[in-house]
Amino acid sequence: MSDRADAIVIGAGVIGSAVALELARGGRSVVVVDKGPAAGAGSTSSSSSIIRFSYSTPDAVLTAWEAAAMWNDWAGHLGAVDPDGLARFVRTGMLIFHTPGDNTVRIQRLWDEVGIAYEVLDTDAIRRRLPGFDLGVFYQPKRIDDPEFAADPQGELTAIFEPESGFMDDPMLCARNLAFAARGHGAQFRFHQQVAGVTQQGGRVTGVSLAGGEQLHAPVVVNVGGPHSGIINGMAGVVGGMRIGHRPLRQEVFTVEAPAGLRLVDGFPAMADLDVGQYIRPQIGGTWLVGGTEPECDELHWVDDPDQYDQYPTVEQFETAMMRVARRVPVFGVPHRPVGLAALYDASDDWVPLYDKSDLPGFFMACGTSGNQFKNAPIAGQFMRAIIDAEAAGGNHDEQPVQFPGTRTGRDINLAAFSRRREKSATSGTVMG
Ligand SMILES: Cc1cc2nc3c(=O)[nH]c(=O)nc-3n(C[C@H](O)[C@H](O)[C@H](O)COP(=O)(O)OP(=O)(O)OC[C@H]3O[C@@H](n4cnc5c(N)ncnc54)[C@H](O)[C@@H]3O)c2cc1C
Repeated sequence: MSDRADAIVIGAGVIGSAVALELARGGRSVVVVDKGPAAGAGSTSSSSSIIRFSYSTPDAVLTAWEAAAMWNDWAGHLGAVDPDGLARFVRTGMLIFHTPGDNTVRIQRLWDEVGIAYEVLDTDAIRRRLPGFDLGVFYQPKRIDDPEFAADPQGELTAIFEPESGFMDDPMLCARNLAFAARGHGAQFRFHQQVAGVTQQGGRVTGVSLAGGEQLHAPVVVNVGGPHSGIINGMAGVVGGMRIGHRPLRQEVFTVEAPAGLRLVDGFPAMADLDVGQYIRPQIGGTWLVGGTEPECDELHWVDDPDQYDQYPTVEQFETAMMRVARRVPVFGVPHRPVGLAALYDASDDWVPLYDKSDLPGFFMACGTSGNQFKNAPIAGQFMRAIIDAEAAGGNHDEQPVQFPGTRTGRDINLAAFSRRREKSATSGTVMG
């Protein structure tokens, strides 16, 4: 394998593999370096892989809507048919309960602007879709040791339902499909190789050094290290030039048996239940994935070292999540023991990703993905290529931000929205973005 390339991508997750595909498609020789064993084996493999469009800012809604068209036509997007099989988009729709102070009014306005169809559901309409649900308002979300946990509901829920959302059936396979397509354009993948340093000369990046001592050379290096990307930005010395920080946040997601009548085959939608503080998404095989929406009462578990964290779910969070689901769905059978995973988000200060250049010429970053950017992986690859091409052509993305043309809507996405130098975006301040 050559030690010289036009671009080095650090990280072969779903976003790193998408970046590699787009850079290779653009004619660059690309080397992807990953310390893990395979594409998508990092945080991507733990993803709930929900594809939805419920974001607080116009550029975030447009980005997710454009990316969804790529998942919908996955083989077409890849331009290749992976002999190991292609991941599939499973359409379920997304139901979001109204909660006090939520951003659903803003979301509806943005959906109206973009042309995303949805329905506003009163309590009876929800009941018809979700038999067996208790549609009482329990807000705010509580821990189970809160004496108010079992308090009587105050009123009844309403919701918005958007029918085009869903999930990708195998997040790791998505990354592997992207890596396969990237290889078709000449990209090389080097696994079990850890980047230990970012090299520079004359004020420009020159490549990376590997833990074994080998040097790889390229005029472009892209940091897509997921929860490790803060460490890699530190190696490059670019953290001081960033107004938005990002760091690893531990999360637990549980796999539980779905009650009869509320399974994927029954048309059960993905749902954000900010009234109790959990999200639920149906899974192939009759289970649900249950994750958290960062309600105020749930302590956030920031992690200093992404190589040192407890990868198993805790009984405490399991019980809390299960009892919340049981309040909402009285027919739900709480499992006897935790089944699920703990994994890391790379959460940014405003829960919006960083797709950007850096203060070190030639060094770029696609990170801060905040538990909500799986859905944007294919378009994030294109964003990074657009920024890298603009800089290579003598542009300055900080001063004249790249406007990315969305092919589905014909509208431009202003990539300044994902700048490391932005003021914090006005978002929900949670994984919902
Ligand atoms: C539990 C969970 C649930 C989620 N659910 C959703 C969801 O429903 N919808 C959604 O849109 N998003 C979701 N996300 C977010 C989404 O999955 C991530 O944003 C996305 O997978 C990140 O991909 P990535 O390629 O940036 O990073 P990763 O997949 O983490 O890849 C980074 C890679 O970098 C490698 N690496 C790190 N350091 C080095 C180094 N020094 N040298 C070499 N290689 C290195 C790692 O080995 C790893 O393979 C979720 C995330 C988690 C954790």
